[in-house]
Amino acid sequence: MSAGLVIAIRVGAAAAVFVAMALWEWLAPRRRLATGRRPRWPGNLGIWAIDSVAIRLLGPLTVVGAALLAADKGWGLFVLLGLPYWTALVAGVIALDLVIYAQHVVFHHVPWLWRLHRMHHADLDIDVTTGVRFHPLEILLSLAIKMAAVVALGVPAEAVVIFEVLLNATSLFNHSNVALPPRLERVARWIVVTPQMHQVHHSIARDETDSNFGFNLPWWDRLFGTYRAAPKAGEAGLTIGLPIFRERAELRLWRLLTQPFRDASELVQAADRPDQNQYRQRNSQQP
Ligand SMILES: [Zn+2]
Ligand SMILES: [Zn+2]
Repeated sequence: MSAGLVIAIRVGAAAAVFVAMALWEWLAPRRRLATGRRPRWPGNLGIWAIDSVAIRLLGPLTVVGAALLAADKGWGLFVLLGLPYWTALVAGVIALDLVIYAQHVVFHHVPWLWRLHRMHHADLDIDVTTGVRFHPLEILLSLAIKMAAVVALGVPAEAVVIFEVLLNATSLFNHSNVALPPRLERVARWIVVTPQMHQVHHSIARDETDSNFGFNLPWWDRLFGTYRAAPKAGEAGLTIGLPIFRERAELRLWRLLTQPFRDASELVQAADRPDQNQYRQRNSQQP
């Protein structure tokens, strides 16, 4: 499999799914966007461009490259177990999905990793562009984790390509502002993470943020007890985003890039200062 073919498959699939989902959510949106597209899309698409360039710059240091190296050297659990090719292919895709689920849970619970990941959650609406809004440092860390998993398991290169294309497509799909018909939604939830399932993960309520971690397969959340069927406040009462970084200025590309290194938006801190001053004045007036 040539590198050019892999890139063509990945870019072609991502572009096709992006256009399809953007059209769908434009024609039949699930929710009325609180902030809208115009303030959000330049930043989100800018992050997508930076992430794509960062991955290209790594050249052969990719997950496919790791799989080809492992195959060449005969490394990995699947090789030790003597798994037939097709079994290793299916097991590889499923195992990588479990790795990404576990990575997502860890990124929520380890404070410095949450700093990187929370930029994804700080989007004030969710739509197709939120599906590609991940900090470049999170993308690079995730790449290293996937490379380690591929080498340890001996995942075939074709399984990596299938997984990467699927992960990208399902991320665009499950962040889209669309709804499946209710009967289809009930069935689809057993096969793939749906937009209505993933929106709970973008709730401002922390207990809901820490649920529905899956991107492709919905099984891991059900298996490990992190599944939530719907937001507590219902579809209409659901607020998207985090309690911090709620100003429109935080949607700009530069602010997205610097969010991991800031505690809260400077705008909020500035707005807080008069209150603190009043508080100090009140205290100083007391006998
Ligand atoms: Zn998350
Ligand atoms: Zn998300």
